[in-house]
Amino acid sequence: MSSEILYSVQHLDVDYSTRIGDVRAVDDVSLDIRTGEILGLVGESGCGKSTLGKAMMRTITVPGHITGGQLVFEDIYLMSLTEKQMSHIRGNKIGMVFQDPMTSLNPLMRIADHLTEAIRVHNKDMSKQDARDRAMEMVKELGIRVERIDDYPHQFSGGMRQRIMIALVLALNASLVIADEPTTALDVIVEAQFLDVLRDLQQEFNLTILLITHNIGVVAEIADRVAVMYAGKMVEIAPVESLFADTKHPYTRGLLKSVPNIDVDNQDLYKMKGAPPNLVAPPSGCRFHPRCPYAVALCSRELPELMSVGEDHQAACWIYSDRDDRPRDETE
Ligand code: SF4
Repeated sequence: MSSEILYSVQHLDVDYSTRIGDVRAVDDVSLDIRTGEILGLVGESGCGKSTLGKAMMRTITVPGHITGGQLVFEDIYLMSLTEKQMSHIRGNKIGMVFQDPMTSLNPLMRIADHLTEAIRVHNKDMSKQDARDRAMEMVKELGIRVERIDDYPHQFSGGMRQRIMIALVLALNASLVIADEPTTALDVIVEAQFLDVLRDLQQEFNLTILLITHNIGVVAEIADRVAVMYAGKMVEIAPVESLFADTKHPYTRGLLKSVPNIDVDNQDLYKMKGAPPNLVAPPSGCRFHPRCPYAVALCSRELPELMSVGEDHQAACWIYSDRDDRPRDETE
């Protein structure tokens, strides 16, 4: 993994117009994705993580709108591109893998046709037979039997379809893969196999992957760094080891404490108090304050920005400020 930035999200705002008012689903979010890393983006349902992924591809549709900020990919300002230019970036540079691959695979096309078509987009002089041979190598590499290359998408299991999606992204030569909940529909064994394949491919092709998931266990398994969102805001960003060993933000602490440990019998699972806020009327100040065990008056008055809390580690929490009226962490 290098420290070079492949994709930079800068102060991004995404709003949805609803009957009961405008909802800011992504609020002033900044995030850098580094070349060759797997960045895990986690948070509860409705925190804005999938909206952020879609906004990065500029595929937010009405009633949603990107209302502020910049998206910079390989030094290209994506918000300045026409839709035609943007669709070229989507088809060639950034690949997306969704929870349900059937939404992206044409049910009437055989896997071989999906792959050869994608390969020939980039290798216009390649013969159909050579593209087919290349497609066969790819499916083999992804652990799919080559005899199945002429099967249709519905003839594959969910895990195999996800592998085919990754093969398509590789065929496109995409440098960034945005994978939105790719393992949510898979059972744990297939999920583990898929994550192994993803990690191997990432290393072999130096892919950069943004892995969007509600499952912090998936992130622990595979990510290099982790970004945590809460109620449309980015609240913590850290290398995966620091996030687990030295968790800073109270929300992330709650998230980690709520995950069951299969090595422990009869454990009392932590339950975070309250529920995620209604984004039509989000709480004042820090959005987590109604649920936070550390909250003080300052927290409900003023919104904390992301601040440095360790090496390559940032958290948006007043505990780490130098203000006299800040909340105190009992572990200090
Ligand atoms: Fe809790 Fe206050 Fe930190 Fe928000 S700013 S997470 S309310 S301590």
